[in-house]
Amino acid sequence: MRGWKYVRAMFDILLPRTCLVCGRKLNIQEKYLCLHCASDLPLTRFGQISHNPMADRFNEAIQKGLDDSWRQEAYAFASALFFYEDESGYKHIPHQIKYQGNISAGRYFGRMLGRELLSAEWASDVDLVIPVPLHWKRHWSRGYNQAEIIAEGVAAELGVPMRTDILRRVRRTETQTRLDVPEKSANVAGAFKVCTSVAGLKHILLIDDVFTTGSTLHSCFLALREVYPFPIRISVATLGFVGG
Ligand SMILES: [Zn+2]
Repeated sequence: MRGWKYVRAMFDILLPRTCLVCGRKLNIQEKYLCLHCASDLPLTRFGQISHNPMADRFNEAIQKGLDDSWRQEAYAFASALFFYEDESGYKHIPHQIKYQGNISAGRYFGRMLGRELLSAEWASDVDLVIPVPLHWKRHWSRGYNQAEIIAEGVAAELGVPMRTDILRRVRRTETQTRLDVPEKSANVAGAFKVCTSVAGLKHILLIDDVFTTGSTLHSCFLALREVYPFPIRISVATLGFVGG
């Protein structure tokens, strides 16, 4: 047994690792998910399909947000690693990363998302990764930004830089979970601002943990568009996509 496996085996005895989805004890080869939950991970494969339900939902928000003045906008690309519903065990993955401080799982699934995007033709010219920022007070109280942890993994796989100094959340927003779609949009409207401009960009990839209505990512998109006009592309990717 190699050194690291021996160490992991010792830790497994002292502090058993469990599957994030079903809670079963993991064996030495398994990481974060048991073999069963890993093989059943409901991958979206949206990277392979440029017109997918997530991108449609995001583009609908973009189209609604266009004002009367003529603005050119191409169909934006969007992809998520896996599907989940409220009753799905897979929702425990983003939940663990966001609320339980499971940063190593965030990196692991961020890398997995990055590898999925490596095979997406539309993502081949991405030259910058930007995570959806938290307000500094929330960042301070949580100690980390879950979107940033995921974005680190994505940027590492794509071999491009990640920047956290470009987009800022300038207004603290209410938690989105109990709001309906128009309320969510109103809640995050104008919450983000671009602080630093980078020249020569072609394709920005925005990263968040979960995509539901897309209102947070749309608000980030609008802030970036002020400084990075068409034809610079702004695409989005998340770990989870809440269908329905
Ligand atoms: Zn499992």
